[in-house]
Amino acid sequence: MKVNLLSGYLKQVYGHKIYKISLNGGMSCPNRDGKLGTGGCIFCSAGGSGDFAPSPLMSVTNQIEEGKKQIENKYKGSGYIAYFQAYSNTYGDMDYLRKIFTEAISHPQVEILSIATRPDCIDRERAMLIGELNKIKPVWVELGLQTSNEKSAKYIKRGYDNSVFEDAVEMLAKQNVECIVHMIIGLPCETREDMINTVKYINGFNIKGIKFQLLHVLKGTSLAEIYNREKFHIYSLEEYTDILLELIEYLREDIVIHRMTGDGPKKLLIEPLWTGNKRMVLNSINREFSRRNIIQGSKWANVHKQQCF
Ligand code: SF4
Repeated sequence: MKVNLLSGYLKQVYGHKIYKISLNGGMSCPNRDGKLGTGGCIFCSAGGSGDFAPSPLMSVTNQIEEGKKQIENKYKGSGYIAYFQAYSNTYGDMDYLRKIFTEAISHPQVEILSIATRPDCIDRERAMLIGELNKIKPVWVELGLQTSNEKSAKYIKRGYDNSVFEDAVEMLAKQNVECIVHMIIGLPCETREDMINTVKYINGFNIKGIKFQLLHVLKGTSLAEIYNREKFHIYSLEEYTDILLELIEYLREDIVIHRMTGDGPKKLLIEPLWTGNKRMVLNSINREFSRRNIIQGSKWANVHKQQCF
């Protein structure tokens, strides 16, 4: 079995490591501002999944410079991924989106622009703008699917049907933009079979990358209230590793794994507390890769090269 991790992909396609800098475009989310709902997805903290992002009051250029300073001790390279992470980053006026994305992509050290958003915040106009930017430098769009099970989607209050995701992927694929999907592992309403089905579903679309995220229970979320009431099962590291590796077995071989776990903000984290030690978690997953003879592949590199440049 072969596993395609982002680090290997970046080295193969771009020739070096590229560090991600989280940016904040100051946008909201239709699932929070009242357009669709006010509570958001049940797992989402008040920071809109961007708890590590800087203040949106700073210009994009200043946010990039600030981000560079914060990682200068651990990163000696010169290229960056400008990552608009918090909330829904295409949920804004077209002129504003053009302005902030152009500012980010024009930074001489930014090699990739990455935009996290909801599929229902992608329309033809926005897909075309992203397509234009993609001709300047590669643009990735991250879509928070979380699950393909419509019942689970309702349970987590995702606020859109799978067909909306499918349309967004198609619009972005027409612009040759790389789509990366977020999937949550361990939703209390889901079985192993449901999660395998989500991976099989993702395999059926023009998806280039996936971010696996272990369900985090964060303070102040609806999920935390449910957890306090029901104390649903929280995966141990061993259980998580086991299901993650099983899902990877089903994943299409050319899909790049951008993330294998996640580390929620420690001050908000209720469970699983073991995720607080990210190094230990990744070491443990890597050990399991070795034990099961899972190879970090490179077969896909040329395919992606043609699409990136
Ligand atoms: S779509 Fe994203 S930002 Fe909006 S509520 Fe859900 S997780 Fe939070």
